[in-house]
Amino acid sequence: MRIDAHTRLCAVIGNPVEHSLSPALHNAAFQAAGLNYVYTAFRVEDVPACLAGMRAMHGFRGMSVTIPHKIAVMSHLDDIDPMARRVGSVNTITHANGRLTGTTTDGPGALRAFEEAGVSLDGKRVLFIGAGGAVRAVAFAVAELTRAESITVLGRTPERVRAIAEDVATKTARPVAAADLATGLADAVAGSDILIQGTPIGMHPKPGESPVPREWLQPRHVCFDMVYRPNKTRFILDAEAAGCTILLGIEMLLNQAALQFEQWTGVPAPLAAMRAAALDALGEHP
Ligand code: NAP
Repeated sequence: MRIDAHTRLCAVIGNPVEHSLSPALHNAAFQAAGLNYVYTAFRVEDVPACLAGMRAMHGFRGMSVTIPHKIAVMSHLDDIDPMARRVGSVNTITHANGRLTGTTTDGPGALRAFEEAGVSLDGKRVLFIGAGGAVRAVAFAVAELTRAESITVLGRTPERVRAIAEDVATKTARPVAAADLATGLADAVAGSDILIQGTPIGMHPKPGESPVPREWLQPRHVCFDMVYRPNKTRFILDAEAAGCTILLGIEMLLNQAALQFEQWTGVPAPLAAMRAAALDALGEHP
């Protein structure tokens, strides 16, 4: 890797940030594309000072924003793209001529993962399991950018589920149903085509758990797990065994990073190199 006075800097900020796969993904992409960019990670506590620093440094081109700063950065940006404004969080900042623009690539990245897998959401009944930040971002993208037949959000904390459903419905003019995870899951799974798992259930260090009993899964289901540690969760292994189409969390991670890469560099992301780097960083063998 060449690093010199022309090198552009990109970085992820968060707290903690040491576990992030983003440096591995983006540096592999810059190398594969032959670009004089470098990507690192910064643990940040003082968000205003961090963004003032970025604005002052002309070669500081791009920033990924992760937990807990996705909302806090918004009041320090010059422009925010309409979808990020509706979602209420920013995961990507692009710096040009002293101006900082915020976008969200989580939802569009998830949709691009479906597209890459050859799965259309148009006319499908989409069920979200979980009601956190990731579900919120992807639910907005599904409501705004697809012709899904229906959207349902299930979660364990009724007020959070209702808040997401009402907010997405109000801002996108698409009906969104809300139900309780404990009592509504069986009917919701039976009445859905696309299952999007957006809770940490099944994540390392408890990889044996799944929110959906295996016997409820049918070959017509498309099962997407946002969790990517492990690469194949219990939910995904069960879905595979039941003959469902599967989509791994790493594909959302890759595609949201690919959209960031394209915003910062203006060239198509080298997805294969990014996937190989991500699998390597996860200890999986491509
Ligand atoms: P979050 O904002 O903390 O939300 C987590 C959601 O899961 C909440 O609705 C929470 O319910 C629910 N939940 C947690 N434990 C549960 C349990 N035992 N039973 C039922 N529900 C439970 O987190 P997030 O940022 O949305 O992330 C969610 C998952 O997606 C994480 O595993 C994260 O690693 C993954 N993710 C992946 C990508 C990707 O690119 N692949 C991107 C973002 C996130 P309560 O509201 O009741 O607490």
